[in-house]
Amino acid sequence: MLLQRIKNYEIFRPKMDTIRERLHSIATLEEDISPVFPYLNTELGGWDYDQKNQVLLLKLAAGKWITLHAREIAIRGARDIEESHALLEWIKSQINDIYARRDQITPRYTSQAALKVINILKLLPLTNCKACGYPTCMAYATALREGEISLTDCPPLWEEQYREKRQKLQAYLESCGWRALDAA
Ligand code: SF4
Repeated sequence: MLLQRIKNYEIFRPKMDTIRERLHSIATLEEDISPVFPYLNTELGGWDYDQKNQVLLLKLAAGKWITLHAREIAIRGARDIEESHALLEWIKSQINDIYARRDQITPRYTSQAALKVINILKLLPLTNCKACGYPTCMAYATALREGEISLTDCPPLWEEQYREKRQKLQAYLESCGWRALDAA
């Protein structure tokens, strides 16, 4: 069994998601689950896989997302605490089941999305200040890539000291045809 113990599970309601009233949560793990990522990517149709930094993003139905890191699982979009726990149990069972069957699965290393979360992340202030309503710049970067939020939701990015980063980020987003989901 690859994933045996969840060290901590925090469920919270992000400030920027109050309209949709969805919950976010983060599980921190004892074990490194990254060996299963290319097999999960094959079996569950990973929306994006960053092999170098070991980040796998899974897009679920009804606006739910699961982001897997080596020792962290972030779940976005649960409608209540019960569903948040059910999603964690579901991905935990998928991780262990798919890892057990990995010899029969062809690993997949490609990703479906052109925009890379890590490239967005590099162009953020990287202070994890939470002013955007997300617990980390990584969480914000993931939400931004999906079009769920906009650059204006990161207030520090508009400070003079981050102007060069912001301009590079705007150019990067434009080069990939990014737009917010609610944009016309
Ligand atoms: S507001 Fe910007 S700098 Fe602060 S955590 Fe969010 S993305 Fe990072």
